[in-house]
This record gives sequence, structure tokens and C-alpha cells, in this order.
Amino acid sequence: MRLILLGPPGAGKGTQAARLVEKFKIPQLSTGDMLRAAVKAGTPVGLQAKAVMDAGGLVSDEIVCGIISDRIEEADATNGFILDGFPRTVAQAEALDDMLAKKAMKLDAIIELKVDENALLARIEKRAAETVAAGGTVRADDNPDAFRVRLVAYREQTAPVSAYYASHGVLKTVDGMAPIDQVTAALDAVLG
Ligand code: ADP
Repeated sequence: MRLILLGPPGAGKGTQAARLVEKFKIPQLSTGDMLRAAVKAGTPVGLQAKAVMDAGGLVSDEIVCGIISDRIEEADATNGFILDGFPRTVAQAEALDDMLAKKAMKLDAIIELKVDENALLARIEKRAAETVAAGGTVRADDNPDAFRVRLVAYREQTAPVSAYYASHGVLKTVDGMAPIDQVTAALDAVLG
């Protein structure tokens, strides 16, 4: 099962992806998580990505496409994967089509979690508060200023990715405003 989860920051992609990981026994490939790991490890990619990520902007297509191209060839992705946070631009979607064709891999589903923009900032603030309460460290980009930049990046660069897949007739949508379990049920229904 090879899946893409699309949706704005705070849509619940990570929460639902974690459940799909359990169900299908396939890894969740979050470019955000991979980039944060690179930043933490101080790799060349991490050093390049840190400032743009902290400000809420997008890392270059070249960097994220390189990361994904390598990652989907790893042993744990043989039976499939869930892409979370990628593709985030139409150029990334096109690059993904090319890399999958070259690797003779096919996508099984592309699902967008539809969420009312007004709900998103509140969700991000809640996530930050929960992280603090659990003794964790809040993401550098989980603050209102960076979040506004992330929303603009989403509207301008990522929303067209949904349109790209819709125009290919392969986009499915699920209501991401419903309670978490209902979203999971809706995903189950879509995935059959
Ligand atoms: P979100 O909560 O916004 O979904 P992510 O964890 O997916 O956050 O990503 C955090 C940041 O990592 C993004 O704001 C961006 O800077 C960078 N990033 C993640 N995925 C990509 C991508 N596919 N292309 C460019 N930048 C990315």
C-alpha cells in the first residue's frame, strides 16, 4: 500500500498516519520529521534547512526529493509507505511521478484531509501546549508567526498539489474536521 496524505499543517496527517502504520505495517515517511532529524544531527542538509524551516518556509524541492527518493528504496518500504508532508509543491509531485515510474512503483491512494483554516492555528497551539505539558520541546515553527508563513506556503504552493492529483482523477478527500476516530473510519472506508 503506497499512500499520500495531503492537507494543511495541523490537519491531522501525523495522527492518522500513525494509525495507518499500525494497520498496514508500512512506515510513515514524514519529510518534516526527516528534516528535523537532519537539523538535530547537524548534517549538511540539516544546516541548509534549519533557518527556512524555523521561519515556516519550504525547503528546496531538490533536497526533499533526494531524501524521499533514497528513503522509499529502503528495506522497510518494500511493502509500501505513507508519505506525510510530501509532495508539497507541484514540482515535487511531478518529480515523485518520475521517480516512481523509474522504480516501477505505483501509488494506491492519494487522500486529502480537508480542514477549515480557522481551526488550524488553534490545533497547532494545542499541540504546543500538550508538548510542554508532557515535558517535551515545542517545534521551532509551532508559533503563530511561523505558522502564518506555513499557511501561506500551503495555500500558494501545496494546495495546487491537490488540484494536480484531482486533475489526474486520483484524489480522494476525507473530512478532517470530524473527531479523530471518525476521520480514521473515513480513511478506512476510502482505502477499502
Ligand atoms: P506541518 O506541521 O506543517 O505539516 P511538517 O512537519 O510536515 O509540518 O514540516 C515542517 C517543515 O519542514 C515545513 O514547514 C518545511 O519547512 C519543511 N518541509 C517538510 N516537508 C517538506 C517538503 N516536502 N518540501 C519542502 N519543505 C518541507
